[in-house]
Amino acid sequence: MRPLGPGATIGMLGSGQLGRMFTQAARRMGYRVAVLSPSAGSPAGQLADREVVAAYADAEAVASFASAVDVVTLEFENIPSASLAAAAEHAEVRPGVTALHLTQHRAREKRFLAQLGVPHVAFREVPAGGDLVSAVREIGTPCVVKTAGFGYDGKGQVLVADEAGIGRAAAATADQPVVVERFVELAAELSVVAGRSAGGEVAAYAASLNRHRRHILDLSSAPAALPERVGEEARAVAEAVLEGLELVGVACVEFFLDVSGRLLANEIAPRPHNSGHLTIEGAETSQFEQQLRAVAGLPLGSTAVRRPAAMANLLGDLWGPEMPDWRPALAVPGVALHLYGKDAPRPGRKMGHLTATADTLEAAEERVVRARLAAGQGDAEAGPRHRRAP
Ligand code: AMP
Repeated sequence: MRPLGPGATIGMLGSGQLGRMFTQAARRMGYRVAVLSPSAGSPAGQLADREVVAAYADAEAVASFASAVDVVTLEFENIPSASLAAAAEHAEVRPGVTALHLTQHRAREKRFLAQLGVPHVAFREVPAGGDLVSAVREIGTPCVVKTAGFGYDGKGQVLVADEAGIGRAAAATADQPVVVERFVELAAELSVVAGRSAGGEVAAYAASLNRHRRHILDLSSAPAALPERVGEEARAVAEAVLEGLELVGVACVEFFLDVSGRLLANEIAPRPHNSGHLTIEGAETSQFEQQLRAVAGLPLGSTAVRRPAAMANLLGDLWGPEMPDWRPALAVPGVALHLYGKDAPRPGRKMGHLTATADTLEAAEERVVRARLAAGQGDAEAGPRHRRAP
């Protein structure tokens, strides 16, 4: 495919906040964006040149969408493979079908990491209706049973503390293939977003240190306040993963750092990631501009850190009958507000985020937490960033 210049139309499968921030980056650079969305008036569709409303599983609609754009990319990896194949008949799909096939499924993803020689969490695969008891015995307890497909933000996961818990895990994941993972005693969670161009050039961003609350990302900061070797090792793994997948676009590799200091790859998202939102203010090129550059066949932008940055998610829990008053948050220096244009705030729903930059990471974190508190969201439930020193 020849490089696409401004004026070309990028087709985006998916229409949430990732597609919205991609649309902002692409339109700034003079590209047109068409989004395929399951519902009208979507976060990305509000800003795109065109919003086509269709189900992801509607292969005919996806094919017709692809025939009207110059290249197809996505913000959501769980697009049914038949729809991806239909799109690929009309336009190049970046990232491609192989990378998506591998990352749509935990067991395939883990096998890929193992083949690549990347340290990962010990696991066993159990096919639908298979022998969960033996797999749990082999891995040992405690362990985590996860459905192999279509899980995110901790959905489809059951912690098995001892053998008595196997029945509950079997019931919760009934009739689905699963992976059984050793439970890792975590010192920290981190992630690395990286881009890969059509010509095979790869560029990783600085690692983000991530803190979750109720299995949902709560705070990210970068460059991660971890020993330098950990961040560098994670970046090298992320680049190797994108090369191994021959992925054109942007992807994120999430890692666990265990209490003995071992870095273990956990999962791959073949698209921009929540932990990379802080690249908008914190890096020389945002992860969304990088996605545009990669899929349009342009050179990658610099991933260098511009300023230490911290990001706090804004969940629907923060919304009362009315939108929070953002004025006190915006009075905190160095704070940027991003709202995703969603009109139904539900608990746990990602409505927006705040990013703060500062001269130091500590100051950036302090600012973003203070800003979110000022908007009404307490930080009392958040766990310590390091559960135990690495
Ligand atoms: P995942 O959907 O695999 O990203 O898991 C969501 C979150 O659950 C992770 O960010 C961890 O906080 C936790 N978790 C998942 N798997 C494990 C594991 N094997 N050991 C310890 N914690 C885990």
